[in-house]
Amino acid sequence: MTILAIESSCDDTSAAVLIDGQMRSNVVATQKVHEQYGGVVPELASRAHQQHLVPVVEAALRQAGIRKTDLDAVAFTQGPGLLGSLLVGGMFAKTLALALGKPLIAVNHMRAHILAHFIEEPRPEFPFLCLTVSGGHTQLVVVRSALEMEIIGQTIDDAAGEAFDKTAKLLGLPYPGGPHLDKLARQGDPLRFPFPVGTMPGYDFSFSGLKTAVLYFIRKETAKNPDFVEQNLADLCASIQHTIIQTLLRQLRRAAADQHLTQIALAGGVAANSGLRQALQDEAAAQNWQVFIPAFQYCTDNAAMVARTAQFQYEAGDFATQLVSSDPRLKLG
Ligand code: ATP
Ligand code: FE
Repeated sequence: MTILAIESSCDDTSAAVLIDGQMRSNVVATQKVHEQYGGVVPELASRAHQQHLVPVVEAALRQAGIRKTDLDAVAFTQGPGLLGSLLVGGMFAKTLALALGKPLIAVNHMRAHILAHFIEEPRPEFPFLCLTVSGGHTQLVVVRSALEMEIIGQTIDDAAGEAFDKTAKLLGLPYPGGPHLDKLARQGDPLRFPFPVGTMPGYDFSFSGLKTAVLYFIRKETAKNPDFVEQNLADLCASIQHTIIQTLLRQLRRAAADQHLTQIALAGGVAANSGLRQALQDEAAAQNWQVFIPAFQYCTDNAAMVARTAQFQYEAGDFATQLVSSDPRLKLG
């Protein structure tokens, strides 16, 4: 079975080809245009998708060594994401499926982030608990099967990735700040500046308080010493990162214990964070967890995870019609 998948939910245009369970290509074009604005500009994102999509799909087909007519199905990200961005990928996929007379598969982006664990070995076994930490979401999900997932906790305000990016911006780091903050944190003292850990009932998260705390703290210190941020950058980064990790770990620990789940999966772009990866490995040793983290290229937005999810849906007979519409707020489960 040969599936072409298209991902265009935010600012990465991606196409992947999956043939008989083997990922044969996964081409990603990252949009650089947003850097100068310090965040994704939706209208520019849609236009960049329009420019990138045809060459990205052609490259994916070429790398896989196939032609359009070899495809058995066309999959695309239906949502959640930016409406304009989703529409570009969605319209392309619908048109291609119609022209080829092949089935269409509509994929939920958050489900795809989780099922990225099934692209390569080792794979978790159902049921498992997944902590999805990305630029727009922070979710604790009980994954009972590929198509049966329940969100038991999520952020009530900012996502973990947003917490990294927004605090990094306060420190004057380039966008997106997460990877820069991670790098600087390696040389810093995580306990130097204690920031508040957002406490939420159940398994929910809150990160907006951290951003405000960092803002006021920097303002206060800079009033006394204008070079405060520059002189303490590594310690500030390490302390912020430590706070975000502790916030995530506390809810994860509780959820895992209550749900009696010991297979813990990490998904989404923030899974690239070296501090979080290390903390999770340490926690795994302490709690007897088995931890799963996908390869980096499958953590950030990519069409390979959409293709893998589409395969599960194909096997379950879950196809879309030409009437399917992109949904920026598509829910999981
Ligand atoms: P969503 O899937 O919720 O729509 P997204 O797909 O845009 O959001 P991802 O691509 O999964 O998000 O992840 C991007 C986020 O990951 C950004 O906020 C980025 O700063 C963060 N990130 C990437 N690498 C690191 C890192 N090493 N440390 C911290 N954060 C990181
Ligand atoms: Fe994503």
